[in-house]
Amino acid sequence: MNRAGSGGPAGLAGLLAAAVLLAGCTADDPDPAGNPTPTASASTEASTEVVHDDGPPTPVDDPALDVALSEPVEDSVYPEVGDPGVDALHYDLDLHWAPTGRTLDALETLVFRSTADAERFQLDFSKVLTATSVTLDGEAVEFEQVGKDLVVHTPVSRDQRYSLEIAYAGTPQPAAAPTTRRDFNTTGWTITDDGETWTMQEPYGAFTWYAVNDQPADKALYDFTLSVPAPWVGVANGELESRTTEGEDTVTRWHLADPAASYLVTVAMGDFEMTRDESSSGVPITYWTPRDDPATVRGLRATPEALDWLEEKLGPYPFPSLGILLVDSRSGMETQSMITLGSTPYTTLPEVIAHELAHQWYGDEVTPDDWRDVWMNEGMAMYLQGLYEVDHGDEPLEAKMDYWASFEPRLRRESGPPADYDPATFGEGNVYYGPALMWHELRRRIGDDAFFALVRDWPQAHEDANAGRDDYLPWLEERTGLELSDFFDAWLLGPRSPSRD
Ligand SMILES: [Zn+2]
Repeated sequence: MNRAGSGGPAGLAGLLAAAVLLAGCTADDPDPAGNPTPTASASTEASTEVVHDDGPPTPVDDPALDVALSEPVEDSVYPEVGDPGVDALHYDLDLHWAPTGRTLDALETLVFRSTADAERFQLDFSKVLTATSVTLDGEAVEFEQVGKDLVVHTPVSRDQRYSLEIAYAGTPQPAAAPTTRRDFNTTGWTITDDGETWTMQEPYGAFTWYAVNDQPADKALYDFTLSVPAPWVGVANGELESRTTEGEDTVTRWHLADPAASYLVTVAMGDFEMTRDESSSGVPITYWTPRDDPATVRGLRATPEALDWLEEKLGPYPFPSLGILLVDSRSGMETQSMITLGSTPYTTLPEVIAHELAHQWYGDEVTPDDWRDVWMNEGMAMYLQGLYEVDHGDEPLEAKMDYWASFEPRLRRESGPPADYDPATFGEGNVYYGPALMWHELRRRIGDDAFFALVRDWPQAHEDANAGRDDYLPWLEERTGLELSDFFDAWLLGPRSPSRD
């Protein structure tokens, strides 16, 4: 996530930079060849029937699902969300959105591994949605909705895999976010005045629109089938496999080939136009921008250069494709391989794009196994954003670090140490700037070559995996040959900011 509008200094600097950017903007027309022509249905039959067309089901024992095996744990910061009894492997989400009635009609198929012998299991699932049928391996099972949980009453065995199918419907409502940030106070499925939808759901909130083990420790694969009245279109993570018109609906199928934590999932339904682009290394890029505001795509044209810059630092981009989706939000989110950005001057700046791109390695490829370690995402993304800004601006690196250090103690005082923060202040500046300064201090200690080798190797050594501080910090000590526990404790857990060298 970016720091839009909530960090004080960064927000103001961002707005000033945005003014400069807009003033210096030159014409860069979107590639019209890349835009598929929407086909409005010629059918005059008004049909309210929802067609769920899933294709062949994923076999529960498919070894291709093994990449999504996880070790879910009860989250130490938000223990009320997620269930360590469930290891989700694959979500197949077949979603139909009716903008006029604001109704989501869905069929979900979840393949999961039970991590324990149990008489029941549960998923996070909004109480404003109604599950109408639940089957396990094709057999109807007893279930109940208790608060924000869907509890399935049927015995499951440790390490057995199951296919759970849930039919549900309703008008999703976003959930209260455990934060004091100014750029968002709810998470999850959000409906605009026009009936368009989008979602940002960190640290949780996926449960506002599907039944999910909504915690970072449980990565899973995804397939989406999204139906919405044409010419609107549904956009999601991964690669667009097909786009057809069926009856009055646009139907898109999306496949996410690498496992993702639920907070990195995105779906939006709206009147989007697609524009194609490509990085120098050949990563296919698509932009999904409002059809009625074609100028917005210009700002996103910084993406290939930012990706080139990051690949130079971090190695090859970890996923098959990249997208950027512009929605009616005030924040920005590193949703896996389809970044979701609010349509604001700040959240579409090149450095914010670079920040969310950096998360594709730090956060998405390697993901914290507990929200206490969100600093592992934001510290490195913020540091790389700072380096990107230095490379593309006039401010010397040391001046930028001095500036960050000037307000970092206040953030630590307000929201707690970066790795022991107040749960009610998720994603505040303390998890960004303190850890970013820590990385800069480590770089000064060990030198550029050793530092950037670490930066590059950590995500590559943990591809598609989860990891926490108990993995990361010993790895850093082993790689550097230094005893760094006092250094890390001071930066990550100290109530006061350490002095800098
Ligand atoms: Zn971030």
